[in-house]
Amino acid sequence: MDISGKNILVVGLARTGVAVARFLVRNGARVTVTDLRDESALAGPLGELAGLPVRYVLGHHDETDFAAADVVVVSPGVPQESPYLQAARRAGREVITEIELASRFVTAPVVAITGTNGKTTTTTLTGEIFSACGFRTFVGGNIGNPLIELIEGGEAVERVVVEISSFQLEWISSFRPRVAVLLNITEDHLDRYATFLEYIDAKVRIFENQQSSDFAVLNVDDPIVAGIAGRVAATVFPMSQQRELAEGIFHRDGVITFRHGGREECFPTARFRITGVHNIENIMASLAATLLLGCDAIQALAAVEGFGGLPHRMELVRELAGVRYYEDSKATNVGSVEKALASFNDITLIAGGKDKGGSYAPLAPLVTERVRHMVLIGEAKERMARELGGLTDTRMATTLEEAVELAARLTESGGVVLFSPACSSFDMFRDYEERAQRFRAAVNALGTGERP
Ligand code: ADP
Repeated sequence: MDISGKNILVVGLARTGVAVARFLVRNGARVTVTDLRDESALAGPLGELAGLPVRYVLGHHDETDFAAADVVVVSPGVPQESPYLQAARRAGREVITEIELASRFVTAPVVAITGTNGKTTTTTLTGEIFSACGFRTFVGGNIGNPLIELIEGGEAVERVVVEISSFQLEWISSFRPRVAVLLNITEDHLDRYATFLEYIDAKVRIFENQQSSDFAVLNVDDPIVAGIAGRVAATVFPMSQQRELAEGIFHRDGVITFRHGGREECFPTARFRITGVHNIENIMASLAATLLLGCDAIQALAAVEGFGGLPHRMELVRELAGVRYYEDSKATNVGSVEKALASFNDITLIAGGKDKGGSYAPLAPLVTERVRHMVLIGEAKERMARELGGLTDTRMATTLEEAVELAARLTESGGVVLFSPACSSFDMFRDYEERAQRFRAAVNALGTGERP
């Protein structure tokens, strides 16, 4: 892609917008930046661009900028149906996002990771394995560092790992990862997608530009993921915990086996620090991607054994009076709560938050089997109570602190208090991290072991 002398409009001035604008200016484009927020709200990002020849349209958008630009680079949060983007498309302009722009300049092999759950864990671990195996590696995308910062930095990177969400995938046109990983697909974001099928279609776009020399790592234990294998042009590299595979990666009796083109590598799971069926899934995906792209098995195993997981994913906060308190604030959908419930018995579940529109019914079997008490909070609590309340002792609380105190009173020694909300946090908190801190503070305030 030749951007020199082109007239490029950057829509949205957060961290990614800044990185994009800087990259474009340095490569000779004529850059206009527009954001609906005004100058005072954008002081930070504007400071970072100070001195660069950028034209600004702030506090509003101007349709003529959209129609006149050669290319529009938009933040993936902007809705596709925005009238300004429609104006750009009507005028025949190319509308792309940062990840698409950056991928046109990346020369190192790219591993792209998507799925409803496990993306950040798998992306981080994949990056750690590559680094442990001696590759200069860039880890970015949805996880934090915009990919364009890599190109901008001009570093001689040898492997790129990007976490990519369904929102970003909606916008791609030529993005072609060497290895694309699809971990799982369960209901999520139905507040944004009209139907579950639309969400599935967005995820599957990760494979759309791949060819047979590329790999699609598919978790074939997930019926929806297995079902899309026929829609993929890349070489399918399956992963399973249910069956042995002649070609692919599978887990059986405490050993993960990788088989590809006559090569076989075995990884005992005994010394892994992150556990649970879902983490084995994440580890298998990371091993598949890294071994397919040149990693050595012994160094890869050492990296997996050294990986302690990420915060806010089923983290033990403390044990008090024989009760263990787990914080799983990152569990913002039903699929991740299912995995958390499957990991424990005698559970007091604290759940609820901002409702994303999906059904809570898939949790019913595990709630019946493993949840002794349920304490519900947030906007979603009434609907959760209607769908699940008949299955176990169910209470309501108005604050998270009240929910923690109630859960502590209800839970017998040997039990587990699990905060795994199945909802996003924006009804009561700034984000899932603030929600996590509030839960941890409430748990730590519970006292010294005296039963309340
Ligand atoms: P994402 O980036 O896709 O949101 P994370 O790695 O941040 O994924 O994990 C989000 C939540 O999903 C956490 O509650 C975590 O325990 C759970 N989780 C992690 N991996 C998986 C998986 N493979 N399947 C289902 N749930 C998972």
